[in-house]
Order: sequence, then C-alpha cells, then structure tokens
Amino acid sequence: MERRKFLQIPIAAVPAFLASRVFGQATLSPLPLKVKFPVVVSTWDSGITANNAAWPLLEKKGTALDAVEAAGRASEEEPSCCVGLRAWPDRDGRVTLDASIMDGDGGCGSVSFLERIKHPVSVARKVMETTPHVLLSGEGAQMFAVANGFPLEDGKLSPDAEKEWKKWLEKSQYKPVINIENRNVSELKNPPANAGGSDIAPPYRFDDGSFNHDTMATAALDSSGKLAGMVTTSGMAFKMRGRVGDSPIIGAGMFVDNEAGAAVSSGVGEEVIRICGTHTVVEQMRAGRSPEQACREAVRRIVKRDAAKAKQMQVGFLALSIKGEIGAFAIQKGFTYAVTNSEWPKGKVFEAKSYF
Ligand code: ASP
Repeated sequence: MERRKFLQIPIAAVPAFLASRVFGQATLSPLPLKVKFPVVVSTWDSGITANNAAWPLLEKKGTALDAVEAAGRASEEEPSCCVGLRAWPDRDGRVTLDASIMDGDGGCGSVSFLERIKHPVSVARKVMETTPHVLLSGEGAQMFAVANGFPLEDGKLSPDAEKEWKKWLEKSQYKPVINIENRNVSELKNPPANAGGSDIAPPYRFDDGSFNHDTMATAALDSSGKLAGMVTTSGMAFKMRGRVGDSPIIGAGMFVDNEAGAAVSSGVGEEVIRICGTHTVVEQMRAGRSPEQACREAVRRIVKRDAAKAKQMQVGFLALSIKGEIGAFAIQKGFTYAVTNSEWPKGKVFEAKSYF
C-alpha cells in the first residue's frame, strides 16, 4: 500500500526549472519525469498510436503485458507507421520482421527474420507462453505462427515500399540513416508536406527512400505495479537479407525487470547489441540512476567506441522505472517518445535530450 502511494507522486511535483522547454510539438524531457501509474510510454511521435491502443486496457486495470501487446499490434497495423508488412523491405525486396515481448518476471519471447505474418509481436508472445524457447527465427518462426492460427499474408510489397526499393536499387547504397522525428525535417532536403503539422508523425522518407525510423517500442507499468515491454520492427531499411537487429534480442532492444525497470531502444541495432543496450539501462536503474541518467550512460558507451561513427547515426533509449519515473536519451536530437496516463489520456510527446 505504501509503495503504491509512493508510486503515485504527481508530475506537478517536478520543479518548474526542470520542466520542459517546448521544441516543436514535443517537450524536452524533465529529469526525472515521475508520473501516476498505470502509464504507458512508446518511442517516437507515432507512439501516440501505440499508447492509444494500450491505454484503454491499463485504465481498466489490465495487465502491462496485454497493454504492450496491444500497442505492438496497433503499430503493426497503422498504415502511416514504419513497421509491419507495409514497411520498407531488405535489399532483396522482402519485408522481414523482428519483435520481442517481455514481462517483469523474466518471461520473454521473440521472433526474428519473420516473413508474411502481420503481427510478429503476438507471435513473440506465443513463443513466450507456449514454448520452452525464447527466440524463433525465419522459416521456423513462420511455421510456428501458421500452426498457431496466424494467417500467412501474400508477401507483396506495398506500392510505396516497392517504389522506394526500386529507387534504392539504382544506387544500392547501404548506409544507416540518422533517425529523427518529423519536427526536424525542415533541415532536410525533401520535407513532407505535413511536417510538424499533426500530432501523429507520418513516416518520413529520406532521399535514399528509407524511413526516418523503423521501430516501435513500448513499456508499460500497470495498476498492480508490474512492468512489461515490447519492440516491433522491420529493421533497417534495405538491410542485407538475413540481417537481424537489436529488437528481438532480449537485453539489446528491450529488457524488463520488476525489481528495477523497463527499457526499449530504437536506432542502429548493431550498436545497441554491442553494448547490451537495454540491459545496461535497466542495470543502471537498479544501481540507483534515474531512467534518463541510465539511458545517457548507455548512449555514452556507444559514443565512446567510435565518436565519429556515432555522429552519423541515431540510437535512442527510453526507460520506465518500477517507481514510475520516465526518462530517455539519444545520440542525436529528434528522438521523441509518447507518454499516456490518467493525466495525459490522449498522450503527450516529449523529446529526449541528446549527446550531440
Ligand atoms: N533498431 C532497429 C534495428 O536495428 C531499427 C530502428 O530502430 O530504426 O533493426
């Protein structure tokens, strides 16, 4: 009972000087942002779509696990989103999906290199709940999905994805892009017509055809004080066939522990894997760091390896502590996240602070 009271310290307790400066539609993160729970947080502006699916469940005292799965499914379904079967393909023109889900008691499941299945996050949950394994991949993951009643889709690229893939083939340059949210596109060559004009970001395409980001990730703290997390992605656009990123790797793209907190990531997965990114974040929170400090430490480890390389890429971490504190940090500006709880039932978008 006492712990619940402690968890419900309102946002109004954050001193004004720490509170936000407005940056486009997003607010620069206060430190630490402590909110009422239940609460759900998701990466990027389109995290609003994910949170909108999760919040009705959390509001009715549903579990964090159900809430993050609903968030993942909404992201995979969202036509204006950058994950799921409509997303950009690999360099051979095939959409291959990665996803993971985890509860705060060590239960976890994931799928990688999965083709023609609409809801990888739900397949990941089936792996978690009905098999002795953690990760199923490729053909085996697809067979498992079909055996469990997930329809096998036709595997055709969306018209947009096909067009952009063909355009990409003209140069066939494989280079990760800096992931940013739409408010910064004015700095770029081909801003979309509605840049900065709506609460939900459209997928923004760079000159080489890739999206501004390829991953949606969510963490939730439910009314019983338990955490869960999920990540779903099509991976880096035009990746090598067979490439798997950080998202389905437990402890890289996502990690959750009810003793400390939950963390998720988006950005260049290889860099996240190299430092066991989200495990690092959760362990930092366990050691007493705030979520933002914990995310900052993970980013520092990436930058320390190769600062020149880090300058050319984006990685963002988003964390939710078991105490209900929220924080994020990214290599570059433009990493945003959405927070939804009883104070912001329609969600509020924040921008993470960044190393550069
Ligand atoms: N983290 C994802 C991957 O490396 C991509 C992204 O977040 O944009 O597959």
